[in-house]
Amino acid sequence: MGGSSKRLTAAPPRLRKCVGCGEERPKAELLRVVRASDGAVSIDASGKAQGRGAYVCADFECVRRAMKKNAFARALRHPIGGEIYARIEELCADRVSK
Ligand SMILES: [Zn+2]
Repeated sequence: MGGSSKRLTAAPPRLRKCVGCGEERPKAELLRVVRASDGAVSIDASGKAQGRGAYVCADFECVRRAMKKNAFARALRHPIGGEIYARIEELCADRVSK
């Protein structure tokens, strides 16, 4: 944080906090779950959906931690169904295999 005299030549990546491990990572490494204004919760594969978002690392460990802590429900202030977590795990599997 802060060195006022230093200028970065490239913009730093936008960091977002994982609800599982609490670490900040570039958005590209995270999966986003979004709650739309109508209350519908979905996985935002594009990263551009409107609404309140919460992020988790594309990592089973983090997804499970988030599940245990009910972290998405807290971050989104909305209950999260098991099917959302199942979907997140599927996406993790996709990322891991690539
Ligand atoms: Zn994480």
